[in-house]
Amino acid sequence: MKINATQLSQVNRQIRRILDSGNYYSQVYKKAGITGVSTPEEFEKIPFTDKADLRNAYPLGIQAVPDEQVVRIHSSSGTTGKPVISPYTAKDVADWAEMFARCYEIAGITPGDRIQITPGYGLWTAGIGFQAGCERLGAMAIPMGPGNTEKQLQMMIDLQSTVLCATSSYALLLAEEINRRGLKDKICLRKGIIGSERWSDAKRNYIARELGIELYDIYGLTEIYGPGIGINCPDQTGMHIFDDFLYTEIIDPQTGEVLPDGEEGEIVITTLVKEGAPLIRFRTHDLSRIIPGECSCGRHFPRLDTIRGRSDDMFKVHGVNMFPSQVEEILGLVDGISSEYKIDIAHDESTNRDIIMVTVEAEGRVNFQQAGEQVRQLFKSRMHVTPKVVVVSINTLPRSEKKTRRVFDHRSE
Ligand code: ZN
Repeated sequence: MKINATQLSQVNRQIRRILDSGNYYSQVYKKAGITGVSTPEEFEKIPFTDKADLRNAYPLGIQAVPDEQVVRIHSSSGTTGKPVISPYTAKDVADWAEMFARCYEIAGITPGDRIQITPGYGLWTAGIGFQAGCERLGAMAIPMGPGNTEKQLQMMIDLQSTVLCATSSYALLLAEEINRRGLKDKICLRKGIIGSERWSDAKRNYIARELGIELYDIYGLTEIYGPGIGINCPDQTGMHIFDDFLYTEIIDPQTGEVLPDGEEGEIVITTLVKEGAPLIRFRTHDLSRIIPGECSCGRHFPRLDTIRGRSDDMFKVHGVNMFPSQVEEILGLVDGISSEYKIDIAHDESTNRDIIMVTVEAEGRVNFQQAGEQVRQLFKSRMHVTPKVVVVSINTLPRSEKKTRRVFDHRSE
């Protein structure tokens, strides 16, 4: 799937908008001599945009319209360094709501639904995105924001909420509370819209079963509008991404080369019509693949597979790209091994070979040596590398709510 003629002309309009604005990227493009693109090949030569550049442009360096046209800003969290600020025009806000309403519709949600929104409201894009989409659709928004489980459950029962919007962690917490308090008969939920992140099937199945709901993964990121740029359809064969607003590519995170449909790599998104802060070829660092072919639901929007982790976790041994999802699949095959892992890669000068060490966790009931040997054999047969495997007790490896770093490459040190 290459960029089509309509999308190319939209990209050209965006390049002109950027150049005329004199913003941060206008300097980058002027320096690179970029004035427009006429073929998919030329498009693929436009330099990537990345979160690190956006930080250089803090606070409003990526704004591409006069202040009079900016109606709102959002900001992504600044866990490392400065946050990224994205300005929105009235059209951007409307476009985002339009995409979000589509997401609800694809999930089978109607104006008759009552949508309980638990993501946070404020500088970041979550709550307000869910809200605007809900209002656009014509459903009833119950704008709870996060936390206060007592109140959440009270509203869920008294207002007979039919849709829950939440992170997977919060949906799990609510499901556990509902189970513990025996409230299942009192709730009317039928669907859950869960912010897309990597989450286990076990967690998904528990939430779906305990709440008796269908679950949908919604995709998005603050730099590109926010959540609501794509969602699974009821056929559950990947997330449809709205290609009239966005163009999506998958690249090799190390070489930057565009990969064919079906191959796993990093998601790169181009905003085709965003005015406030257009981004061309923005590296999301999320790993997935474009699912080839058309969906059985009949919608023509291209599909992204479930997010498989972060490209920062992708690694290369003996010249072969390896993905966290492959490691997880292997670990899932060994009884008593948790899904947590750590990988260290080094280079042995004396033999001129890469060395890979995999640390995994095992439950006390299993034989550590046997489990380790199983992991080693699976790496050998499936990934064609033979690691040294270290087995430690469960809960030894660090865990965090955010994206845990699992791969440590010592070769560049
Ligand atoms: Zn579909």
